Amino acid sequence: MSRGVKGVNAYITIHVRLFRTRGSAKNFECIECGGPAHEWSYDGGDPDERSGRPGYTSPALYSTSMDYYSPRCRHCHRMRDPNHWRTRTHCKYGHEYTEENTHWNSDGTRKCLACLERRAARRKAARIAARAAA
Ligand SMILES: [Zn+2]
Ligand SMILES: [Zn+2]
Repeated sequence: MSRGVKGVNAYITIHVRLFRTRGSAKNFECIECGGPAHEWSYDGGDPDERSGRPGYTSPALYSTSMDYYSPRCRHCHRMRDPNHWRTRTHCKYGHEYTEENTHWNSDGTRKCLACLERRAARRKAARIAARAAA
């Protein structure tokens, strides 16, 4: 894992690393349409995904692990880029983003409340278990 890289630097670092390790995405075919790829694009699904990237006002999600990147052409990248997460109707665990189930953060990102509750319940259970064990 690439702990230690932070913020916008992490976004640049992972793209530099992709380029150095796998070469230019232009040498590959777009995994969506089979056309010539243009760039490495984040697949989504990293449990430790980060947000925010330089030069963009809207939050963009990215991963600091190369495992979550695939070559895509510009068109498919745009269609698929987690920048377009706003068009998603469900969180990655399949909960629907209804008005009641959506928590908006001050930075414009959103969270699935069902997932937040699930995580809070898990933390609480862990605390109780830790107390019981102490
Ligand atoms: Zn494509
Ligand atoms: Zn959820």
